[in-house]
Amino acid sequence: MSGKVWLVGAGPGDPELLTLKALRVLSTADVVLVDDLVNRAILVHVREGARVVRVGKRGGCKSTPQEFIERLMIAEAKAGRIVIRLKGGDPFIFGRGGEEADALGRAGIEWEVVNGITSGLAAASAAGVPLTHRDMAQGVVFVTAHATGVNEPDWAALVRTRMTLVVYMGVARCAAVERAMLDAGFKSWTPVLIVENASLPRQRQVRTSLERLSQDIAANGIGSPAIMVIGEVARQQHALEQRHSQGSR
Ligand code: SAH
Repeated sequence: MSGKVWLVGAGPGDPELLTLKALRVLSTADVVLVDDLVNRAILVHVREGARVVRVGKRGGCKSTPQEFIERLMIAEAKAGRIVIRLKGGDPFIFGRGGEEADALGRAGIEWEVVNGITSGLAAASAAGVPLTHRDMAQGVVFVTAHATGVNEPDWAALVRTRMTLVVYMGVARCAAVERAMLDAGFKSWTPVLIVENASLPRQRQVRTSLERLSQDIAANGIGSPAIMVIGEVARQQHALEQRHSQGSR
């Protein structure tokens, strides 16, 4: 009998942001393939005796090829095992979950996805910023800045929406993003919130403006993983300092 693959979101980092469903599924695992953005603390919920394989794929770093991961998932499921593909954030937001689901479908493997809290949502909330606000932004757009050339976001179209932009994978390319956005007509003073390691004890955030984006990222030594929230909502600072000084995290 064939097994099953679960594409499970591990959330942004804080182990308490895992869903109850993820918790239940992890306790049934035979094999767990873990991305390197997943907090190791979450692995305590994996069924004892399950095989845990780390398959990091951080941009620029040594990584496990995507085809290898897909072949391994398929082989293990065909052998009748319960396979968990544990990914940072949500599997279907810039997580290649769609590609993996396609590969599983083609191989005739049963699969299911379990949502995780995507880091873009977590980053904004952890810094006290609501992504939508009646007076400031009527919507949110998730964009990746990782694309090279062909898939560059259409910044000129985005400037017209006046929605909040949540930019993933943007820190390494922040100078290019800043340039492209200014060229597309975003105002130089557009507020930007950058959150590094959102939801983790080592979380850091920097508030700046579009024209100072790359300068302030460099000055503060902000690295990956980080989310940039761009738009009027990024101006808000809802009682963040107060919450932190109470030591709630
Ligand atoms: N599927 C993931 C995104 C994977 S792409 C999700 O839904 O969150 C990797 C990018 O996610 C990173 O470059 C960074 O922009 C963002 N990211 C992931 N975890 C993060 C965290 N704890 N804090 C800030 N950004 C994070």
